[in-house]
Amino acid sequence: MTSPTLFEPCDLPPATEALRHEVRAFLAEALAGYAPSRLAKSWAEGDAAFTRKVAQKGWIGMTWPKKYGGGERSALERYVVLEEMLAAGAPVCLHWIADRQSGPLILTFGTEAQRQEILPRIVRGEAHFCIGMSEPDSGSDLASIRTRAEKVDGGWRVNGAKVWTSGAHKCHYMIGLFRTDPKAEKHDGLSQFLVDLKTPGITIRPIYNMTGDHDFNQVYFEDVFLPDDRLIGQPGDGWKQVLAELAFERAGPERYMSNYPMIAQLIGACSQDPDPRSAVEIGRMVAQIATMREMSLSVAGMQQSGQDPALQGTMVKELGVTFEQSIPGIAHDLLGREPLLGSGDEFGASLAYVTQASVSFSLRGGTREVVRGIIARGLGLR
Ligand SMILES: Cc1cc2nc3c(=O)[nH]c(=O)nc-3n(C[C@H](O)[C@H](O)[C@H](O)COP(=O)(O)OP(=O)(O)OC[C@H]3O[C@@H](n4cnc5c(N)ncnc54)[C@H](O)[C@@H]3O)c2cc1C
Repeated sequence: MTSPTLFEPCDLPPATEALRHEVRAFLAEALAGYAPSRLAKSWAEGDAAFTRKVAQKGWIGMTWPKKYGGGERSALERYVVLEEMLAAGAPVCLHWIADRQSGPLILTFGTEAQRQEILPRIVRGEAHFCIGMSEPDSGSDLASIRTRAEKVDGGWRVNGAKVWTSGAHKCHYMIGLFRTDPKAEKHDGLSQFLVDLKTPGITIRPIYNMTGDHDFNQVYFEDVFLPDDRLIGQPGDGWKQVLAELAFERAGPERYMSNYPMIAQLIGACSQDPDPRSAVEIGRMVAQIATMREMSLSVAGMQQSGQDPALQGTMVKELGVTFEQSIPGIAHDLLGREPLLGSGDEFGASLAYVTQASVSFSLRGGTREVVRGIIARGLGLR
């Protein structure tokens, strides 16, 4: 069994209060014209003008070295910015993936030339990234992917397809996981590439989800030529890079705060006719949020001190997802409302969206069963 102090307490330094107020004031102005139902979509929404404003404030790549345009600020300062963005339902989708995982990936595993080329553009809000891991027959068993990058003169020729690629139609780049050595052991024959999505031979086709939104895509590669300098790290490094990325993907407060604006709207709706039952339910929700926040802050503290919070981050993801998926049911119980899309009723539209969208929360970034397996192994339970 692991140590009982799995989550060390982590307090935000008092100096981050000024930053928090600055972010709140910025968001109050930047989001003034947004309808509440749009805020309920939170980080699934993208807005290029908003992303540029966030970049001008220095809030993308905050922790990265200054020589690549970063702010050399702490993981805890970044946490404060993230937390405020999520609490407000800010449309961070365009810069989110690059800030959270593609930029850190290039920083850790990329060449110096790749860092200099890409990181300053991410920081300026000009280079948006998507994740090309899943394939039509490979999701949880990611190491079984079949999209092939074959070595050719001066580069690699890619054939195959990626699926569920969030935001590919709005992005400039994909970090693509491809099989570079079909003869090697399943996990050893994989490599990641920096893919410019305008490269000839790439076709991006939309997939509409249950909410009617176009977030996902299927991305086809037909004889796509990628020059040698697009490889990240060494051939065969792909699996260890993916594991590092998934740790970034699972660790943040977005795993329990993606419904936050909807919770605020629910509390507002209940306060019009308060009763003991809604007080109990709201009290429970607040207690859960407070607990997960302490756990999530502990993860940020571990990142700040250079520790690996993969297990703790995965636990926050699982608890957060379970909490978020319970919110629509609680809202229906308390208010007895049917979700009505397009009814002109902002709370109804928010509830409709969250009811449908939250179903997918236990799939993205690793399914519930897979995540629980990782936690059980991490805790030494099996
Ligand atoms: C909102 C959303 C956004 C996404 N965005 C991206 C993206 O941008 N890029 C990207 O590459 N992918 C993305 N995905 C894909 C996501 O990573 C996959 O859906 C996920 O990995 C599961 O893969 P799958 O859909 O093929 O399901 P499968 O792996 O086929 O799983 C089907 C079911 O079987 C269960 N199962 C599978 N293996 C096991 C096991 N060993 N033990 C127990 N149960 C098991 C699963 O838990 C699940 O319930 C996104 C998904 C969602 C929902």
